[in-house]
Amino acid sequence: MKTDGNTNMLWRGKHLMVNILFTRAGLAQQIWVENDSGALLFDTGDGTLRDVIDSGLDMRRLRELFYTHGHFDHMGGLHSLLGFLRMVGRRETLPVNAPEGCTEVFSAVVNFKRCYPESVPFKIPCRELQDREKIETAGMIVEARAVIHCGSVEDGIIQDRVPAMGYRISCRGETVAITGDTGLCDSLRELVKGVDLAVIEATAGKKTDLSPAMLEKVHLAEDVAAELGRTAKEYILVHKGKR
Ligand SMILES: [Zn+2]
Repeated sequence: MKTDGNTNMLWRGKHLMVNILFTRAGLAQQIWVENDSGALLFDTGDGTLRDVIDSGLDMRRLRELFYTHGHFDHMGGLHSLLGFLRMVGRRETLPVNAPEGCTEVFSAVVNFKRCYPESVPFKIPCRELQDREKIETAGMIVEARAVIHCGSVEDGIIQDRVPAMGYRISCRGETVAITGDTGLCDSLRELVKGVDLAVIEATAGKKTDLSPAMLEKVHLAEDVAAELGRTAKEYILVHKGKR
């Protein structure tokens, strides 16, 4: 694993390559996963377009978008990404997958189509995913798992639960889990257990920095995330917040 902090953390398995283009809580997260048939983006936070281009990745390989949830740091770059693909004349359908009820993502797609009613040369179908739903695409199987994530703001007040998913991506027996933002819950433990690589959020520094309610409903801390990570063959902690 090559890592320089928040950007360009690269993992190469036998069949899957995972490039964490950028990840920081409250700022942005975008993760590119590819195999020899194509690529998927998990979350498109602010700067996704820049990060894909600057990393030298081939945008023409992109098959589908997947969202862990609709908070701005996970979807803020969607409009520019779609705008770029319209500009370069993409023709291939680009499905957008997000948890059922993920208003921020689905309404951003509707808004984009409304801006350019006659001139988007590719289809952008939206899929509202349910827990355990599996999507087969580009030689990969992506399974969605509902996790528990509530909104929170700087004053520490826990807001309502938002539709949130972690994903397990499999390709010819190799598996990668991406947790998205989540509290510590059973589906998260199942998601991570035994995978070749687990990409786990670790927004807080230590368990003791979080109230028990924050840990259960909002975010993980590094020590908790690392303990979870040890149930996978390899893990990387991402989406760190201010320390
Ligand atoms: Zn986040």
